[in-house]
Amino acid sequence: MSRRLAVVTGGSTGIGRAIVNTLAREGWDVAFSYISRPHEAEQTATSARAAGADVLFAQCDVGIKADVDAFYDRVAAWRGAPDLLVNNAGVQTWAPLLELEEDSWDRVIRTNLKGCFLNTQNVARRLVSAGKPGAIVNIGSGCNKLAFPRLVDYTASKGGIEQFTKVAAIELGPHAIRVNCVAPGAIEIERTQAEAGDYAGTWSAITPLRRIGQTQDVADVVLYLASPGASFITGQTLWVDGGVFTQANWPYEKPGA
Ligand code: NDP
Repeated sequence: MSRRLAVVTGGSTGIGRAIVNTLAREGWDVAFSYISRPHEAEQTATSARAAGADVLFAQCDVGIKADVDAFYDRVAAWRGAPDLLVNNAGVQTWAPLLELEEDSWDRVIRTNLKGCFLNTQNVARRLVSAGKPGAIVNIGSGCNKLAFPRLVDYTASKGGIEQFTKVAAIELGPHAIRVNCVAPGAIEIERTQAEAGDYAGTWSAITPLRRIGQTQDVADVVLYLASPGASFITGQTLWVDGGVFTQANWPYEKPGA
């Protein structure tokens, strides 16, 4: 049987890198995009190749249609339509609503939400015209369902991804294309470590499983959603958050007590 092909957006660092490497170890070939860190992208490709995968990677702004079209033309010339798409690329800006710059709003919505749309549409069109089944996994966040202050653009984008996932699942289901979302909790990567002095300690204390998440926690669930074991699952959001976004802010109990 020929090896299956996955596309991961934003595979140069963090969660995307873990997804690329996990898929590579599990027998997938992988194409991935990045935007600003070619050196890190090269490192991801090197580790995925060491795990036995064929790898293609390219700079591609997920929120620009011309970039996305050119990227998938390259992927198609290389290996045809992918069996799996992981819409992982994302950016976050921190600002109160009253101070948020239009540029930040546009960049976050374009990358996180429009990027998800453009990549999904491109891959789904190719799968439908090839008559091939497929799976799409969108990376959400706690912002899918909770309102985070100073993250209004990010929260709007991730709430949009939740609803986008459902509509895409309904429309693409008859073509045997499953669309799901993975919503991570606090995951330890370079970017989040810089967010707070003791990022791991801060989040572990309020997370029911009493630990912070690792990129592997997310990658494992993406792998599951791409597997035959998930073949009757579509339109769902799977929370990979140690329970942190399930608990209410209950006035009689202090979280972490
Ligand atoms: P990173 O900043 O490490 O990774 C972001 C990735 O997205 C990088 O590969 C980056 O490329 C890529 N990227 C950014 N903008 C674009 C663009 N316009 N076009 C193509 N690629 C782009 O962060 P994470 O690993 O944390 O983020 C991955 C996903 O996980 C995001 O969707 C994020 O919202 C989500 N998430 C993360 C959580 C966490 O705690 N870490 C929690 C909840 C959700 P480059 O390196 O080249 O800049």
